[in-house]
Amino acid sequence: MVVAVDGTSGSGKSSTCRGVAQRLGLAYLDTGAQYRAMTWWMLEHGVDVHDADAVAARAGEPDLVSGTDPAGPTITVDGTDVSAPIRGEAVNGAVSPVATVPAVRARLVDLQRETIAAALGGRGIVVEGRDIGSTVAPDAPVKVYLTADPSARARRRALEEGGSDAAAVEASLRNRDQIDSGRATSPLTITDGAVQVDSTDLTLDEVIGLVSGLVVS
Ligand code: C5P
Repeated sequence: MVVAVDGTSGSGKSSTCRGVAQRLGLAYLDTGAQYRAMTWWMLEHGVDVHDADAVAARAGEPDLVSGTDPAGPTITVDGTDVSAPIRGEAVNGAVSPVATVPAVRARLVDLQRETIAAALGGRGIVVEGRDIGSTVAPDAPVKVYLTADPSARARRRALEEGGSDAAAVEASLRNRDQIDSGRATSPLTITDGAVQVDSTDLTLDEVIGLVSGLVVS
């Protein structure tokens, strides 16, 4: 079983996917964390993230490893745990431009398909991102497109970030959505066969129940 969950920034994808994976005994892969880790590495190495050629030239270098336990997902780069720094402002502002670079996408899509293939040796996997249903796993039997009202997304994200300014968070989310939807390679779109879920007025438990129901029905 592969469950492909795509959607806008801050729509509750991570909490939903982890909850569904835990409930159904599936593995979990956060592909956004991989784009973030790639971006963190570029910033650490002084690469100009707005220079697509410079980013492409080095996209093969970082060694990224994702742990797929939904109770405690991990991500390391060259052996360093980067779970915390990849959520910081510097990466928030740089990740969408890095994710537009085709060489970055090609490398990460390969990695993601390897992880999915490995999980299919077990019970399966819930994969979250922007291009999972369209590009990474187009044959996934369950596809979900998750979104929510932008101000609801910003409020939730600001709370998660320990009281950041909601207006600034909303501007950052909208900026990422715009770049993610407008890029040439694998833009964020509602792919054929995806069930759309708007979580604006739903609790997390309700969204988890709804998506789990799609998998078992
Ligand atoms: O999901 P998250 O907000 O952590 O993703 C961070 C960024 O990574 C997105 O804004 C997008 O630019 C990029 N991304 C992507 N394709 C994916 C997952 C994330 O382009 N499958």
